[in-house]
Amino acid sequence: MKSALQMVDQNYGNPSSLHAAGEDAKDLLRDCREKVAKAINAKPSEIVFTSGGTESNSLVLNNLRLESKGLVKIISQVEHSSVFNCKPDFTIPVTKECLLEVDKLEDIVQKFNPALVSVMLANNETGTILDPHGELYKLKEKYKFILHVDAVQAFGKIEIDVKKTPVDFLSLSAHKIHGLKGAGALYISSDLDEKFLPEPLFIGGSHERGLRPGTENQLGIWSLAYMANKIHNDSSYKSEIKNLSKLRDRLEDLLSDLTEVNGSKEHRVGNTSNMYFHSLGGTKETHLDLFLQLLSESGVCVSGKSACASGMPAPSRVLSKMFGEDSLRLHNSIRVSLSVDTTEKEISRAAQIIRECHEECRKMIGEINE
Ligand code: PLP
Repeated sequence: MKSALQMVDQNYGNPSSLHAAGEDAKDLLRDCREKVAKAINAKPSEIVFTSGGTESNSLVLNNLRLESKGLVKIISQVEHSSVFNCKPDFTIPVTKECLLEVDKLEDIVQKFNPALVSVMLANNETGTILDPHGELYKLKEKYKFILHVDAVQAFGKIEIDVKKTPVDFLSLSAHKIHGLKGAGALYISSDLDEKFLPEPLFIGGSHERGLRPGTENQLGIWSLAYMANKIHNDSSYKSEIKNLSKLRDRLEDLLSDLTEVNGSKEHRVGNTSNMYFHSLGGTKETHLDLFLQLLSESGVCVSGKSACASGMPAPSRVLSKMFGEDSLRLHNSIRVSLSVDTTEKEISRAAQIIRECHEECRKMIGEINE
């Protein structure tokens, strides 16, 4: 397998060019499309390459030609900003466990008669699988809305098979599976009526079936396909991914006297833990920032909310939807993400550092509040 640098050196052709270098680039793109498609059991023609999860989501949420179906959009309350900010007509509530409120689902669908429903597969802050029993799929069969699934966080962590689920659109991002940032894909079911295909986000050529103009990001796409293929075919990689939940659970066990897990422990992807530190004493966002800073300075890189929302003064929207805006969990919870590179030794060390930083931060917050 070529390295990324070799790819830059050798694959300078443009897949839209007709000469030999262009043909090579076209072959590479074709191969990448096949690999990404196979990883989710789609057909290659159902894959449109994009610049990432945000673009895939935006294409569907903002640019569908829905006129004949009306424009009513329903999403969950805990979607990533690229979905959440699409001006939906209604947001489906979640429980304290970050699960979709399935009891209310059918009433909501009946009341709003949506053209489009978008619910993520796994939440980016808690790792929760929002609809573990596929209630939405049953409703989709009954009410025939268009269903979009943001699978950015779930891809590579749980099996995705678009032929087993009635999904019309599904978003993927390369960097969530250790590919390069700035590449992704949108699966578009071939069963979807052509009249509902999205308008391209920008004006340009006929790349990617005319849905995504602009010369393809070959290296980014190659990284997505390379990792998708690994996820799909490499059995030792698959078992490393499986092992992640054991490491994550170990970390949670080591810190169980200080923490409670936010979100369903049963229905979640294996690499994520959202931990509430009940004795930290944080009452505002700056207290959490302090904790995160101490952790980072000690070599533990974790987040307080989604990376896209970092830098904004508001606390986690996801936790506020789960627990209410006044919950202390908003100012005392961190999200830990593990990767296949994480080792048992690192978990023990991280637990020790988190414990020390927690103690230091608790004292500092106490002093600030005095
Ligand atoms: N959707 C989810 C659930 C995400 O977690 C992210 C990124 O963190 C995105 C979409 C956006 O993906 P990208 O960073 O590739 O634009």
